[in-house]
Amino acid sequence: MRPVYRAALLILCNIFNCKLVGYKNINMAKKTEKKVVAPQEENKADVKLDRLQQILKTTPQISANDPVERKLRLLYEIQVIDSEIDNIRTLRGELPNEVRTLEDDIIGFETRISNIQVEIKKAEGIISQRKLDIANSNALISKYEEQQKNVRNNREFESLSKEIEFQSLEIELSEKKIKEAEELIKDKKASEEETKKMLEERKKDLVAKKQELEKIIANTEKEELVLKEKSTEYKQVIEPRLLNAYERLRKNARNGLAVVEVKRDACGGCFNKIPPQRQVDIKMGKRLIPCEYCGRILVNWDE
Ligand SMILES: [Zn+2]
Repeated sequence: MRPVYRAALLILCNIFNCKLVGYKNINMAKKTEKKVVAPQEENKADVKLDRLQQILKTTPQISANDPVERKLRLLYEIQVIDSEIDNIRTLRGELPNEVRTLEDDIIGFETRISNIQVEIKKAEGIISQRKLDIANSNALISKYEEQQKNVRNNREFESLSKEIEFQSLEIELSEKKIKEAEELIKDKKASEEETKKMLEERKKDLVAKKQELEKIIANTEKEELVLKEKSTEYKQVIEPRLLNAYERLRKNARNGLAVVEVKRDACGGCFNKIPPQRQVDIKMGKRLIPCEYCGRILVNWDE
């Protein structure tokens, strides 16, 4: 399971105490994976999870007298929710690819089988034609042998002998061709069997994968709904001017980020360095400060 999906599932499982399919496995998988993750990365992921979890539990409230910092915080929380919705949507968009790959494989195998069958038919056609040729040659040989009994001279006898020899060579050639065709059929049938086995396996995989994906899609749709409701709840309390700016920035940003944290002295959206004085201002949270380069709203929490 992909980390994004696992994370999303975990959050919702924890918050709503619900038992989603494979919940235990997800937890276990996460624990095992944790061992290989660098400690710093792990902490960051946990912080993000905790934050989203906290946000989903909160009922957003704001009053006209609240400081800018409070508004920025709400806006940032909306960003966390919306980013998670983006993640889920991207993930769900990728899931059907696995089914498509299996379907393509199946079509490929079916084409291969039908091509093999055409080749087998062709070889069988050669065999029956050659068998007819042999029968004809044999009939001719019998006829010539009969005629040899009533020849008037040696020349006639020799001429018939040559015809008989020619037909015998024809028979040899046909027998060789039949043998070749039989070998070919044997090979083709073996590869037909093999391909059929692979086809059956893929068909079984496809059924299982489709069921699995339907479940995952249904679950992520549930998660998305919960997140969307929370996002709407938040957006109702934020002042429209700020919300418009947020939505506009989000629409124009490739990664859907409008509010970003300062990370390692740089903008978390475009990664350009932020001058120290500006960083101080951002930290104070007295006013809305956009990134000089990308225009995203910058925040910096002490936590
Ligand atoms: Zn920036």
